[in-house]
Amino acid sequence: MTKVVKLDRDNPDMNLIDEAAAILLNGGLVAFPTETVYGIGANSLNPDAVAKIFVAKGRPQDNPLILHIAEFQDLFKYAKNVSNDSLKLAHQFWPGPLTMIFEKSDIVPSINTAGMNTVAIRMPSNKIAHTLIKRAGVPVSAPSANLSGKPSPTDASHVISDLYGRVDMIIDGGSCDVGVESTVVDMTGEIPTILRPGGITKEMIMDVVGSVDVDPVVYKKPSLDVKPKSPGMKYKHYSPDAEVYIVKGNIGDVIKKIQELTEFQLNNGKKVGIMATEQTCEKYRNGEVLVVGNREKPETIAKNLFRCLREFDKKGVDVVYAEGFDYDEIGLAIMNRLEKAAGYREINA
Ligand code: AMP
Ligand code: MG
Repeated sequence: MTKVVKLDRDNPDMNLIDEAAAILLNGGLVAFPTETVYGIGANSLNPDAVAKIFVAKGRPQDNPLILHIAEFQDLFKYAKNVSNDSLKLAHQFWPGPLTMIFEKSDIVPSINTAGMNTVAIRMPSNKIAHTLIKRAGVPVSAPSANLSGKPSPTDASHVISDLYGRVDMIIDGGSCDVGVESTVVDMTGEIPTILRPGGITKEMIMDVVGSVDVDPVVYKKPSLDVKPKSPGMKYKHYSPDAEVYIVKGNIGDVIKKIQELTEFQLNNGKKVGIMATEQTCEKYRNGEVLVVGNREKPETIAKNLFRCLREFDKKGVDVVYAEGFDYDEIGLAIMNRLEKAAGYREINA
C-alpha cells in the first residue's frame, strides 16, 4: 500500500516528515518533491533498500544513483579528495540543482554507484526534501520518481500514475520549480566536466571556476562505440508514447514547417500534437497545441517540458512536433531532454 500525503512546501508538517523519515530508516521507499523533479528515495547506506529503487522504477542496474545530503560536512563522509573548485561550486550552488561526481569513500555501498569508484552527490534546496533528509540523518539515494524511460515527474500526479503501489509513501508538495533534473558535473578530472546539463548552467559554473568542459554526449546521440562517462546518458529517456520530432531553424520557418507537417499527418488520419510557445501558439490552426512556456523566459519552458510531454500522452496523440530552442544557458538542458524524448528525430525547417 502506498500512503499519499500532502505537505506545505514552505512549512511542512513535521509529524509527517518524521513518518517519512522512519520509512526510509526502516528500508522503505518514499517519493518526494525536490526543486528539480520528484525523486524516489531510499536510505543510501542500506543496500537492500537501494535495490528496491531499481525494481520499483525498472531502472537498469548499471545506472548509478545520486546521494542527496542535507548537511555540508556530510560531503566529506561520502566523497574523497574534494577539490577546491568543488568547494567553490558547493558554496555557490548548494543547496540547489547541482550534482557533483567525486571519488567515493568506502562507506558508500557500491549498489549506489553501479560498482564505480566515483559517487554523485547533491544537496537539494526544496524544503520538504531538505528537511526529510536531515531528519532521516542518512544520505538518500533518489533518482527521478518515474518508471524508467518515461518523462520525469514534476507533479505528484505524475508520480502517482507511475509508482502508486510500488513505493511506501508519496509526498505531494506541489509542482517542481526547475522542472529538469540537476546539472551533473564530474569533478574528478583537471577541469570540471558537465555530464548532464540542468538548472545550473555552463555559464554559471564558468563564472565560479573559470573553465568547464561539456562531455560530447550532451550534444549528440550516443553511439554504441562511445561509452558515456555518465551511464544514464546512454539510455532512451523522457519518452512519451507519441513519436516526437524537433523542428529546428529560425522561428518563422519552424512555424511554417510545423503547419505543413501537421496538415500532412491529419490528412493521413493521425492525431497531431504541437509543442508551441506563448509567442507562437496562435499561429497554429490545427492539431492539439500545448504552450510549453515563454521564449523570453526559458526557465518557464524547462519547468513545463515534462508535464507537456505527459499531457500529449493523455490526449493520445500519435505524433508531436516540438519547436526547437537555442542551446545556450538553460536551453542546453531543455534541448538535451527534448532530443532524448524525440529519440534524436529532428527536422530542419
Ligand atoms: P537521475 O537520478 O535519474 O536523475 O540520474 C542520475 C544521473 O547521474 C544519471 O545520468 C547517472 O548516470 C549520473 N550519475 C550518477 N552517479 C554517477 C557517477 N558516479 N558517475 C557518473 N555519472 C553518474
Ligand atoms: Mg531519471
